[in-house]
Amino acid sequence: MSSVRPWRDIARRKSRQIMVGSVPVGGDAPITVQTMTNTPTADPVATIDQIRRCEEAGADLIRVSCPDEESTAAFRKIAKASRVPLIADIHFHYKRALEAADAGAACLRINPGNIGSADRVAEVVRAAKANGCAIRIGVNAGSLERDLLEKYGEPCPEALVESALDHIKLLQDQDFHEYKVAVKASDVFLAVAAYMGLAEAVDCPLHLGITEAGGLIGGTVKSSVGIGNLLWAGIGDTLRVSLSAEPEQEVRVGFEILKALGLRTRGVRVVSCPSCARQGFDVIRTVEALEDRLQHIKTPISLSVLGCVVNGPGEARETDIGVTGGGNGKHMVYLSGVTDHHINSDEMLDHIVSLVEAKAAEIEAATVKVEAHA
Ligand code: SF4
Repeated sequence: MSSVRPWRDIARRKSRQIMVGSVPVGGDAPITVQTMTNTPTADPVATIDQIRRCEEAGADLIRVSCPDEESTAAFRKIAKASRVPLIADIHFHYKRALEAADAGAACLRINPGNIGSADRVAEVVRAAKANGCAIRIGVNAGSLERDLLEKYGEPCPEALVESALDHIKLLQDQDFHEYKVAVKASDVFLAVAAYMGLAEAVDCPLHLGITEAGGLIGGTVKSSVGIGNLLWAGIGDTLRVSLSAEPEQEVRVGFEILKALGLRTRGVRVVSCPSCARQGFDVIRTVEALEDRLQHIKTPISLSVLGCVVNGPGEARETDIGVTGGGNGKHMVYLSGVTDHHINSDEMLDHIVSLVEAKAAEIEAATVKVEAHA
């Protein structure tokens, strides 16, 4: 549908592709969604549990902090258990980078300018090359180098970009090119301007994020505005929504941003009305329950849940499954945009869940059949 509607098309910036373990980042690869664990890395059981929840939510890549030797020791076990490639988050201690590379990290998040000397950078690059690790440079407005702060007077887009270019140069000097870069700030204007500047200056993949964005609602809005703006401009190859919320929530929000822009599809895309006095059933409670009960669906499906016939039939025509509130506790169910049958209020929830599950199974079976014939 979107391909014949040019006002929906987003022309992605042409970036160079790198591999983070088995996951391509950049070029024409799907924009990946990342998150980060917040359990103590030295506790592999808790960390693997959290990784499982993030995998279930759809995380393509997961970052794990390695602040000390105990953490890098546990990282080996965690990396073995993880189904998605892991990024080891390192600050300052280059030895942690060497250990993490050796312990199975698919990527090191480290700023080469912060680890002390050219020799140390060379050592980290050697370890990355030997272990097939990528590197992610993560410039952050909150921790800009002192000389850049003195030069520019405050964190500004030019300072963030210059910092990124300085770190990049250190990797290029070591003939290392498997890197991606982030220039994050908690200020949306600053982050967006910095990413726009960086996108002009380099061809490597860009990791998007509005850092320290806030709690679930505030941070989601801020990230949607900042990351959404950049994605809409075609910028961004991988993203992390930084929320003071559980990592799996970050993954869900990340996918919702991509789904809203038609850049990725995953699971159920719910179209629902805010409800009003015309509603034939409790729309808000129904949608809350459906979102919760349909989290296990990974196949892209659209579902409209509208309280009455004012907008219900129109939205149902555009979705795989639709329900529109009617009078007397009886509601119309639409399949593939066409009116199909009625359902009572008390059976509606279970019924919609079954319909979505059946549709998902049907789509999956059809996909398998097409692949078998390809
Ligand atoms: S679809 Fe009906 S119930 Fe929902 S907000 Fe619109 S008028 Fe109200």
